[in-house]
Amino acid sequence: MRGQYEELSCPFCDKGRISVLYIPSAVSIKQTRSRVIRGNRKVKSSEEWLVQSGCNVCGKSQDEFEKKLRENGII
Ligand SMILES: [Zn+2]
Repeated sequence: MRGQYEELSCPFCDKGRISVLYIPSAVSIKQTRSRVIRGNRKVKSSEEWLVQSGCNVCGKSQDEFEKKLRENGII
């Protein structure tokens, strides 16, 4: 799986840095994409953002980040 690492500032404390793996649509598998669209998951695009770490400043977990980043429309 190919992708690109990005660093985002923590949406909770704004001091920590979290690393996120960004996978552009060009490298995602078409089969996966159609399966996702048929499901009930809300899909903005075929891009993928995978949160790689929690915040070492405020201690939030990967799951909490993903949820927050989606709420904010960042990912
Ligand atoms: Zn934080």
